[in-house]
Amino acid sequence: MNSPLDYAEKHRKDFIEDLSKLVAIPSVSFPGFPPETVEKSAAAVAELLKARGLENVEILRVPDAHPYVYADWLHAPGRPTVLLYAHHDVQPAGREEKWKTPPFVATEKDGRLWGRGTADDKAGVIVHTSAIASWLRAEGKLPLNVKVMIEGEEEIGSGHLESFLQKYAKKLAADFIVLTDTSNYDVGVPSITTALRGLVSMDVEVRTADHPLHSGMWGGPLPDPALALSKMLASLVDDEGRIAIPGIYKNVRPLTKLERKSLESLRYSDKDFRAQAQVLPGVDLVGGKASPLEKMWRLPSVSVNAIQVSSRKDCANIINESAWAHVGLRLVPDMDAKAAVKALQDHLRKHAPWGVKVSFSNAHGSPAWLVDPEGPAFEAAARAMTEGFGREAVFIGSGGSIPFVGPFGKVLGAPALLIGVEDPYTNPHSENESLHLGDFHKSIRSAILLYRELGKLPAKAARRAAPRAAVAA
Ligand SMILES: [Zn+2]
Repeated sequence: MNSPLDYAEKHRKDFIEDLSKLVAIPSVSFPGFPPETVEKSAAAVAELLKARGLENVEILRVPDAHPYVYADWLHAPGRPTVLLYAHHDVQPAGREEKWKTPPFVATEKDGRLWGRGTADDKAGVIVHTSAIASWLRAEGKLPLNVKVMIEGEEEIGSGHLESFLQKYAKKLAADFIVLTDTSNYDVGVPSITTALRGLVSMDVEVRTADHPLHSGMWGGPLPDPALALSKMLASLVDDEGRIAIPGIYKNVRPLTKLERKSLESLRYSDKDFRAQAQVLPGVDLVGGKASPLEKMWRLPSVSVNAIQVSSRKDCANIINESAWAHVGLRLVPDMDAKAAVKALQDHLRKHAPWGVKVSFSNAHGSPAWLVDPEGPAFEAAARAMTEGFGREAVFIGSGGSIPFVGPFGKVLGAPALLIGVEDPYTNPHSENESLHLGDFHKSIRSAILLYRELGKLPAKAARRAAPRAAVAA
């Protein structure tokens, strides 16, 4: 098969043009930014889907959520159906003076396209529209049925996604789901993400008195909430930086043989980690003996994201009346989010000295996500990406948490393939976001080939034989 790939080759510039037009709409979904621009970008996405040959294009809504865009092409009877996902909203530009190019003008430089949303996730939208257009223009048809859904509130946590999926479950029913919003392991390395960590976070506050007191006149008998909180936080880890909450590792699912093999094949060392994270010389890596990838992808980790006791500006010779911190715990498969919240709170309470008053607020928890990458859908994806990139595809984890992935498996019950266009240099959510244009083109090629490979799987059998996305409880 060559012609859809030939079409894609000939239209490389047009696809970048499509992407640049979407980037020009600053579709920031955050509160305080004009919702009309997200409406405008939904309309532009709808128009593009139609122009690239999709049918039944619709703006779909659930109350209080930014608009979703839906379209389909369902003329492959007997063939399976794939649901393609991306999002059209973006993060705010951040500090404009830090940008080397204007954030909302897609600018080509050094083989990359710079601008907010060039990668996250307007590139995801364009990978789908370009691969579909390549099939429809070259062959007049697609090798399987396609549904497309483009979300408008991913960057603010996909708060309405589950209710959206429930409301439109029938419309969105599919044999496979392809979610295009993740990162490749490195430039030129096609990657399928099969594990995401979950996240539990909360505020903890320690109180000892009604108001701050002079540290000379009252210091001595009076307990210091900053020291009390420090002792509590320090008790969260042992001397090696491993989490010291009893039982926290008990349910952690060990790596399978295949997972360990694929992790080792990436040959990622402590040295690589130090270089990428820019750890200062002489500062130890912590967390025990596991490899850095295993620690980031398949082991829990704890962090104190903020501490507040007075401030640098107001610092005076006082003993404060209270101290506050925000604590985050990353979860891995088989850890229960609710149980983790409780274990964290129990532990902090138990280590609170001197009878200080401890309270918790804003506790949130979402579980980890893991899929078993064995079965026809994953084999098809690996084949397509290996051919599309000219390099063997790898299965990777991600230390981060993507709240939208869980609901897909839960509500739609089809295997989810997480295949993205970003790379470690993309800088999403930060200034100077960019997309590697070589990988962008390879991703479009891979998507063209993926439709062919998935289209070969029998519609109903595919659903039964393929692994289901396993959402940890
Ligand atoms: Zn994204």
